[in-house]
Amino acid sequence: ATKIKVANPIVELDGDEMTRVIWKSIREKLILPYLDVDLKYYDLGIEYRDETNDQVTIDAANAILKYQVGVKCATITPDEARVKEFHLKKMWLSPNGTIRNILGGTVFREPIVIPRIPRLVSGWEKPIIIGRHAHGDQYKAQDAVIKEAGTLELVFTPKNGGEAQKIKVYEYKEDGGVALAMYNTDESIRGFAHASFKLALEKELPLYMSTKNTILKKYDGRFKDIFNELYETTYKKEFEAKKIWYEHRLIDDMVAQMIKSSGGYIMALKNYDGDVQSDIVAQGFGSLGLMTSVLITPDGKTFESEAAHGTVTRHYRQYQQGKETSTNSIASIFAWTRGIIQRGKLDNTPDVVKFGEALEKATVDTVQVDGIMTKDLALACGKTDRSSYVLTEEFIDAVSSRFKKTFSS
Ligand code: NAD
Repeated sequence: ATKIKVANPIVELDGDEMTRVIWKSIREKLILPYLDVDLKYYDLGIEYRDETNDQVTIDAANAILKYQVGVKCATITPDEARVKEFHLKKMWLSPNGTIRNILGGTVFREPIVIPRIPRLVSGWEKPIIIGRHAHGDQYKAQDAVIKEAGTLELVFTPKNGGEAQKIKVYEYKEDGGVALAMYNTDESIRGFAHASFKLALEKELPLYMSTKNTILKKYDGRFKDIFNELYETTYKKEFEAKKIWYEHRLIDDMVAQMIKSSGGYIMALKNYDGDVQSDIVAQGFGSLGLMTSVLITPDGKTFESEAAHGTVTRHYRQYQQGKETSTNSIASIFAWTRGIIQRGKLDNTPDVVKFGEALEKATVDTVQVDGIMTKDLALACGKTDRSSYVLTEEFIDAVSSRFKKTFSS
């Protein structure tokens, strides 16, 4: 059969350990037999990052900026133990952090829902997508311990010479306490809003942005106002045409609604709320092997997708000893398909989009229809016997044979 031509390159970021093993199999068995695609390959495996003094991560991020679509394998973020294990020159920064700093944009996490896999929150029949504003607030704050009586003030000094603005915060008594100052910028909030509105339109799902604006009237109020303003001036018509909507929700109302809902919407959350809620949603949907993550820039064009989980070190140790592994490859397959679908949409090549969607369906149906799954999913179904699950490579082969049978380009 002739391969489907992908008009523009896709940037491929390779990674570490068990996910590196899976990543290669997906590429060789599920992607390259069908697509004629120019993969711009960057090896973000820890050894090569160390060899290049992490330049390869920066080069990969710049390649994503250039070609607009990247797919990424999970990578080791070194800690002291990893520095020893690999004799690293330095404790290199998290590749995801480095890439996010270069691309900007917002990370959205989306679970893959497979009906026969039970969820901890059983009512969640459709995905809940969480966008976290990964900029500022508590994560870039200055905090302090105060040990004596005195006055805490916030001072803003205008660059152009105007009078400094002083805001009194608190008068401490003898035993002191703690203090914190944090910030955000209109530019970053606007970028977050654009990325969120664009994803809602693309997915045709309603969008909620959530703050505590009843308490932080000015700070959180600014987030609410910027989202509202952009919605009214730029996005409302398109939303209405697609019969979706945007609303602001108080964070406490939002989480209550979230637990009671059946899913099927996007939540745009501030930095700390997003940090906490994304872990709650991941647990509620069950396996980490079913959570995907995409980074989208405010113009909606530059896009990087990956599995939300790590390199599955525990399984890799088994693999290194030649023992059986049953690692879930679904989120890694979706890292590829989400990138391929985005490439097809940007290039206006429906056959590429169709390929990506068909591969996603074959992957889900391997579990849902054929009942073939890895150990993590079998456990979620309450099964523990060896006959209830397949091995890492066997699962990818099962997807491959289902896809071969069902897909015709
Ligand atoms: P992990 O996600 O690899 O594993 C956490 C737990 O979930 C383990 O018990 C693991 O067995 C299970 N698990 C995760 N994915 C699975 C899958 N696909 N199939 C079956 N079980 C799965 O996280 P960790 O163990 O904390 O970290 C391992 C390494 O991954 C670390 O070096 C860390 O730096 C890195 N990491 C990378 C990313 C990323 O690249 N985005 C994210 C998280 C962790």
